[in-house]
Amino acid sequence: MAMQVLKTVAEMKGLATTWQRQAAEVCLVPTMGALHEGHIALVREAARHAPIVVVSIFVNPIQFGPKEDFDKYPRDLKSDLEKLEALNVTCVFAPTEREMYPEGFQTRVVLEHLPNHLCGIFRPGHFAGVATVVLKLFQICKPTSAVFGLKDYQQVLVIERMVKDLNLDVKIIRHPTVREPDGLAMSSRNAYLSPEERAIAPELYRTLCFVRGELEKKPSDVSRVIANAKERLARCGFVVQYFEVVDADTLEPQSTVASPCVVAAAVYLGATRLIDNVEVVPKR
Ligand code: AMP
Repeated sequence: MAMQVLKTVAEMKGLATTWQRQAAEVCLVPTMGALHEGHIALVREAARHAPIVVVSIFVNPIQFGPKEDFDKYPRDLKSDLEKLEALNVTCVFAPTEREMYPEGFQTRVVLEHLPNHLCGIFRPGHFAGVATVVLKLFQICKPTSAVFGLKDYQQVLVIERMVKDLNLDVKIIRHPTVREPDGLAMSSRNAYLSPEERAIAPELYRTLCFVRGELEKKPSDVSRVIANAKERLARCGFVVQYFEVVDADTLEPQSTVASPCVVAAAVYLGATRLIDNVEVVPKR
């Protein structure tokens, strides 16, 4: 069957309703396009969970701050569609901004605690924008499951929490971070990096792995290890926005690794903001 490309909410809802009547399993992969191997891995994962795979492509304006990169975010629908066609995706939902946010739109899904950590502190309103668009996509595409990447760790927790809190019937599937051979987490934003910045970028993941190793040896050494990591990144040319060890469920900062934790960082390399994280569990 040829891949369908739908641009309106009405068409997508219509198709989703027929699937729902057939009690078909549908797995959704929400994306902002500019697809890379990380996205492709999520789509392959989706195909293992359901015979019907929907990929949404929508650069969501309400999750970008006024000084962020919404206008220059990479967009290449033609090339994205070619990649998805080769993967036997059932349907691509690629709505316009008007379609998703018609005149008068004013509702937001706001979480109380999770956004008060990590990226949420530096991107006010970001996670409300994410939760709102994902809930809309769930309503429109009616998936039985959806795949999210752990590169955006806080985003996964926000979505999982929303699904529980609002009793949504969507199974959330976590997918590990897909990396370049040198360890850099794949991201549409990596396209912004100059060749010099690109050469430095893998040091972020190396530093996260180093921190994980140190904490596995000495779980109570969080503050010293973080201070070293920040210095190391600064020496390499990164401007560190945050570098933290947090509880893997609540995102509360930890001074010792006594329960499953995540080492999470956001850094600037020139004008480009990169995020990455690794999980660290207490060894016994
Ligand atoms: P985006 O297009 O950046 O909004 O990402 C769409 C989905 O792909 C989100 O669930 C991301 O977490 C996921 N994703 C992006 N980059 C990666 C990666 N390198 N590895 C795994 N998942 C990713």
